[in-house]
Amino acid sequence: MLDIVKNTFHSIAHLFFPQLCLGCGRDTVQNDEPICIECLYQLPATHFEHIENNAVSKALVGRVPFTQASALYYFTKQSILQSLIFQLKYKQQSNVGLALGKLMGQKLAESKLYEAVDVCIPLPLHPKKLRKRGYNQAQLLCEGIQSVWNKPILNHAVIRQRNTKTQTKKSRMHRWENMDGVFVVRNEQLLMNKHILLVDDVMTTGASVEAFYQAVQHILGMKISICTLAYTSGM
Ligand SMILES: [Zn+2]
Repeated sequence: MLDIVKNTFHSIAHLFFPQLCLGCGRDTVQNDEPICIECLYQLPATHFEHIENNAVSKALVGRVPFTQASALYYFTKQSILQSLIFQLKYKQQSNVGLALGKLMGQKLAESKLYEAVDVCIPLPLHPKKLRKRGYNQAQLLCEGIQSVWNKPILNHAVIRQRNTKTQTKKSRMHRWENMDGVFVVRNEQLLMNKHILLVDDVMTTGASVEAFYQAVQHILGMKISICTLAYTSGM
């Protein structure tokens, strides 16, 4: 009897407050998920998590001595994924980060290439940006990953000490100069002899990944792998 009351209440509430998919805007969302199944199914998967020699690893080779590197989806203009990432970063839709992170976790858990990872590290956000947004979107992705792939999240071992502006019109060399010294290690012990997986939302040039590596490269026995939600070679 209680279940009937609960379900009826839920149905009536849904009439007045329909839950809309953040990808397509249709009222097809079930089980309190922010993105509908059709949208999730349509996201353009790269399958890079199973391929060692992929576009992301090619973009980073010679700059970061990684163990594995991949992005799980292609980021294209006017796509559902672009809209979801926009809502995650600029519209306070933190639940999108958890949902997309869960997808990442499912893919990583299925990949043999990432089995040896010890901990996930969200690419640190500058404290000023963190205050403005209220959360680090990479941290939410890590939490989503952790919900299905049992790897601890390591926060605060590396911090972002300098804020940077997106400088899309500058050359790679200028971006590198701009990123120099952006990250700093706060707790070396936590990273020693660990295989870390650096997690971020979108990789474009890899400048942030490279800057992160510059900060941690001296740490003994540390291995680094990289996984981002999406990849674009530039827009
Ligand atoms: Zn949808």
